[in-house]
Amino acid sequence: MTVSAVSMLRPLVLALVAASLVAQERPKTPPTPMPGGGAPNAAPRVDAPKPPEGDPKPYDKVITSELKSQDGLFKVHTGKSKVYFEIPKTQLGKDLLVVVQVKKSPADASYPGQSVGDEVVRWELRENKVLLRAVSFNHVADPSNPVVKAVEAMSTPGILMSFPVEAFAKDGGPVIEVTRLFTTDVNEFSAKRALQATGMDGSRSFVDKVKAFPLNLNVEAVQTFNPSPVPLPPGIPPQYAAMIPPPPTRTAVVHYSFVQLPEKPMMGRLEDERVGFFSHSHLDYGRADHEVARRQFIARWRLEKKDPAAAKSEPVKPIVFYVDPATPKQWVPFVIKAVEAWQPAFEEAGFLKAIQAKEAPTPEQDPDWSADDARYSVIRWVPSRTANAMGPHVSDPRSGEILEADIEIYQNILQLQTDWYFTQVGPLDKRVATLPMPDELMGELLAYVITHEVGHSLGLPHNFKSSATYPVEKLRDKGWLEKMGHVATLMDYSRFNYVVQPEDGIDPKLLIPKVGPYDIFAIKWGYTPIPEAKTPDAEKPILDAWCKPQETTPWLRFSTSGSMGADPGEESEAVGDIDPVKATTLGTKNLKRVVDMLPKATLKAGEDYDKLNHLYSAALGQWGRELGHVANLVGGFDSEPKVGLQPGVRFTPLAKNRQVEAVKFLNENLFKTPTWTLPAEVLRKLGPTSGQAHLVNLQRGVLNGLLTPTRLTRLQEQEAMLGDKAYTTSALLGDLRAGIFTELSSGARIDPYRRNLQRAYVDLLGARLYPSAPVAGMFGGGAPTLPTLSNDDTRGAVRAELKTLMGLAVAKSGDRATKAHLEDLRDQIAKLLDPKFAPSATAGSAAGAMRGVRPESCWPELTEN
Ligand SMILES: [Zn+2]
Repeated sequence: MTVSAVSMLRPLVLALVAASLVAQERPKTPPTPMPGGGAPNAAPRVDAPKPPEGDPKPYDKVITSELKSQDGLFKVHTGKSKVYFEIPKTQLGKDLLVVVQVKKSPADASYPGQSVGDEVVRWELRENKVLLRAVSFNHVADPSNPVVKAVEAMSTPGILMSFPVEAFAKDGGPVIEVTRLFTTDVNEFSAKRALQATGMDGSRSFVDKVKAFPLNLNVEAVQTFNPSPVPLPPGIPPQYAAMIPPPPTRTAVVHYSFVQLPEKPMMGRLEDERVGFFSHSHLDYGRADHEVARRQFIARWRLEKKDPAAAKSEPVKPIVFYVDPATPKQWVPFVIKAVEAWQPAFEEAGFLKAIQAKEAPTPEQDPDWSADDARYSVIRWVPSRTANAMGPHVSDPRSGEILEADIEIYQNILQLQTDWYFTQVGPLDKRVATLPMPDELMGELLAYVITHEVGHSLGLPHNFKSSATYPVEKLRDKGWLEKMGHVATLMDYSRFNYVVQPEDGIDPKLLIPKVGPYDIFAIKWGYTPIPEAKTPDAEKPILDAWCKPQETTPWLRFSTSGSMGADPGEESEAVGDIDPVKATTLGTKNLKRVVDMLPKATLKAGEDYDKLNHLYSAALGQWGRELGHVANLVGGFDSEPKVGLQPGVRFTPLAKNRQVEAVKFLNENLFKTPTWTLPAEVLRKLGPTSGQAHLVNLQRGVLNGLLTPTRLTRLQEQEAMLGDKAYTTSALLGDLRAGIFTELSSGARIDPYRRNLQRAYVDLLGARLYPSAPVAGMFGGGAPTLPTLSNDDTRGAVRAELKTLMGLAVAKSGDRATKAHLEDLRDQIAKLLDPKFAPSATAGSAAGAMRGVRPESCWPELTEN
């Protein structure tokens, strides 16, 4: 199964985790067509009026000397705001892949490289018309099987557009005017969904650039869309609609690339969910199975040995990445090193020098070289404030063959690397005692990012399980780190080794992920030729046997298909998540050191406190993520990928004591006020009130995650399975009470930090009681999760808990503020338990939580006593 970056987002999204930290890498896998063809949610086509159709004219009356002509995949003629394609007869009926992306757009609408659509198309000449037809490979059958006729009948290629033939060239190939393909809404290629718009305005759209290359042809169009109306925020009466400013017009540059597909498709390799590869799926009707088989071919490059008899041979055609000439000179050697870091993995698959990096030729060396040419894969340097990188690829949907990959590195990825390195391992590397970091170190971090992106371009998706396959102790062992690294793949989001402590004396080089044993295993599995197998099915038993070592070697395993966020070992942004309590204990020690380092590292004479502010928030964000890994133990299931007759199960509930230990850790470290997160020297430089808001946001984020409906459903599932051996929702609420309301039993004074925490917690319980109130959206972070019960019994446990708290919230002693707070809490709970008041109360609490303000401001009438 294919696992994309987005599908693996954790449900526990902490308030302090910036959205930009989640890298948006995206495989350019064509979307699965809807039954019967057509794009999802296809709307009626809005074409410009068709030009009058006349008989073809003489060639030189259409292609006049005023037009500019280019040779390439097919001849292109441009001028007078028109674009003509001259399609050679030999190209008619051939498969072309069209890849459409947003290249530039208004900042809030989309991001550069966002996919709009991918389609395989063919040009078809019918008398004096040329049809552009979309071909689906969703339904296939062996050509020798009689069912193939029926399959073909079922998959009639959709006609995307029809063009009158303007003239015929000498070879008999038609000349057509294709401008409106790029200036009207074609559902399959329309950027309107990506840009949140309704439809294209042809009068404000035009073709800007056309460039033809031997294997591809690129068109860039400036397209203007009418924006979708802004919906009224929940709770705002319709009469206020006029007060909402209209959304801005969406004008974007949309890039079309027509790429020729290989004449003979490569033999596909069937996917296996135990080894992660991006893949293309199709339904095969030509098999003897008693059901229609869904089959998937993995995405991989076509590597063939020059010397098929040799154990190791150079490939006929190596994978070559060119370094964008715009890359700052100091980074070029690191980019080259980053690409070639994959060579040892390919050697294991039997290929020498299979993957190479080259500096792009200068215009003097090769005037025809272009980064847009599909014959060249390029690592592009994008001057952008976006802190990200992408490793997409273009592949043949018939076979999975990767044809081209252009990796994009956004310049501000350097800042993200600084944030991560400083907050995760700053105390372990003397070079970051003061910032900025030296170029030599930044180069290493950049190389790590690029090696990861190249991994995607080789077909590998993320493998978040990998960081939970080594024992935590080994992550502090020099010998182990040298041989195995701290994570078995750099395709995990396991960044820098924050488990290491200064006293371990680990060389900082060993803190950065490298190509690891899982990567080598996966490349070997996906790329080693199997010459004796003449069909994909004949490869199957051999591929199955190659998975055997996974049964005894955990670090060769891939994420478990279908675990849907239940496995706390599938964390992103985690090191040592096989035991998050141990890893976060060690990470917290480093973060305390990081906070101490902040003033010296960031303050410069004559400069403001922006850097200090940024890295202080980044450090708390890092801690929030590490705490989230601990919270995910609650209601967790350990998982192991298995298929067929392998013994044992795939999902095992986490032992009760591990869940109890997690809540205990959170009580002792997060809910008991962590004063180290509130350094007066830093806070009073940043502002008058920043401390309380930072802390309560962090605490609320973790509590929010602990109370997600999916987690509580899993707790209920564990109770149903294990009875009194399970950790239950009531036990969780009781344990949280013991940590959050310690003062209620001792009668101690409740300070402002703890008052904030206690109010926030009661608020969240209220929100859990009325999940249909608007607050529901704040749970879960929108990630795909296990289905929740339609009628779970959490409500009873939460009600009982609120009643217990109401009974306990009586001041035995303490100061006036403590008494006032407890009285307020009792009123707050009474309202929550009273159905007359509750829904509006929860809506208020949601608004407070989302704004990140202290929640009591939602109920001013209750805080005046
Ligand atoms: Zn990635």
